[in-house]
Amino acid sequence: MAETKHNVVMIPFMAQGHIIPFLALALQLEQRKGCTVTFVNTPLNIQKLRSSLPRNSSIHLLEIPFNSSDYGLPPDTENTDSLPHDLILNFLQSSLALKPVFRKLISDLVHESCGQPPVCIITDMFFSWCAEIAHEFGIFHAIFCGGGGYGFACCFSLWLNLPHRNTDSEEFTLPDFQEASKFHATQLTKHLRNADGRDSISVFQRKMLRGWYNADGILMNTVEELDKLGLTYFRRKIGRPVWPIGPALLSSRTRAGKATGIAPDVCEKWLDTKPLNSVLYISFGSQNTLSESNIVQLAMALEASSVNFIWVVRPPLGFDINSEFKAKEWLPEGFEERIKASGRGLLVQKWAPQVEILSHGAIAAFLSHCGWNSTLEALSCGVPIIGWPQAAEQFYNAKFLEEEIGVCVEVGRGLTCEVRHDAIARKIELVMNETEKGIEMRRRACDVRDMMKEAIKAEKGFVGSSAKAMDEFLNAAMLMRKDIDTSTRV
Ligand code: UDP
Repeated sequence: MAETKHNVVMIPFMAQGHIIPFLALALQLEQRKGCTVTFVNTPLNIQKLRSSLPRNSSIHLLEIPFNSSDYGLPPDTENTDSLPHDLILNFLQSSLALKPVFRKLISDLVHESCGQPPVCIITDMFFSWCAEIAHEFGIFHAIFCGGGGYGFACCFSLWLNLPHRNTDSEEFTLPDFQEASKFHATQLTKHLRNADGRDSISVFQRKMLRGWYNADGILMNTVEELDKLGLTYFRRKIGRPVWPIGPALLSSRTRAGKATGIAPDVCEKWLDTKPLNSVLYISFGSQNTLSESNIVQLAMALEASSVNFIWVVRPPLGFDINSEFKAKEWLPEGFEERIKASGRGLLVQKWAPQVEILSHGAIAAFLSHCGWNSTLEALSCGVPIIGWPQAAEQFYNAKFLEEEIGVCVEVGRGLTCEVRHDAIARKIELVMNETEKGIEMRRRACDVRDMMKEAIKAEKGFVGSSAKAMDEFLNAAMLMRKDIDTSTRV
């Protein structure tokens, strides 16, 4: 008799930082016995995914229509990659238009599948509206939060409570967090700073976050042993199971539609020429960049500290970050030539094969915006972080990594901060040179790497915490299916 396959439907928000962990999770799920995955997104994202999925993957890709022009967005905007910051909220709001088409898709899947509807729908943290659709069809609904537990718990508490509005001080605490944990006004995005609970962003965020209470459970791309504070917060707050199944990581080869600015093997060859633990990797993720003056200060710091480096250079704030980087205009005079002549640095335009770079033994540290995917990628390779958070929950990721885990030092904060080259150089030297602090940070990063490896292990009778959480999640989803099947059987 043919084995019954349990179909898991997944739908991420249309942004690189969301699609990447979803795809990583989808690839893990399809390895599970008896599971198939249907991956849903807008046409352009699905097209890109088609060309990047591994040949042997059986993930079923399904398109749902979306016309960005209907929402005052540039034509063919189906990803945040090329979207100016000030249009992100419009894009988020426009994604609500996916609700009726997603409902139709689920209805079709239920009716086509001859009594075998999807066993579970996993949706993005921004798509908590999917719970209603899942429950209408008696399907288990989980939210997958690609962000870290602590960082996202801070965002959750901030948007729902706006505690910074109740004080005149620059410092404030968050309800439900340890009293001692102080937050600073510079750790707020412009939207949070200006929020009063009635503005359009607060209304959107609060509706979306309150929707988490309707989910049957929350999956998080993190590790139980690493992220206890954040996980405990959500378990208490939401009162639903929270399953930390991370790290769900994706190799650069499987990343959709991102032509790298440098071939991975060229990068690897360059790194092969450098001593172990001697290279600083610098990148600010898929959506962020520095101001023009901070780019110059960072370049000066790199020259002054004489470390080897790979720098993913993006046009400064105010320019299209996917356009050509004009080195002559945005870097100190002669910088590019001096770097080339010394062989010390590699400037990569647009997009780098980050996972491959971080896993090379020559990498000593990562100057990062502390996006959660980048954080997991660095820590899974035992690489300590010099944090320069720019937006969203990156501020709290940086705080967590520095104060709770001890693998990060912060060098700058926010889009408009002015950081001087000597301060940057001091932090680079602190982490890259054999200082007591640098050695300790690397040791801790390696401990986290080992902890992560254990968490996803399932072999010879040993089941790590993340592998166990994944089992528990799938069991919960199947149990709901079984209950429904039993109650509808005559
Ligand atoms: N990334 C990459 N090459 C780049 C820039 C980014 O591969 O040049 C990938 C990176 O490996 C990570 C993702 O893009 O997986 C960025 O996600 P993250 O959560 O770190 O930040 P976001 O882009 O969401 O701010």
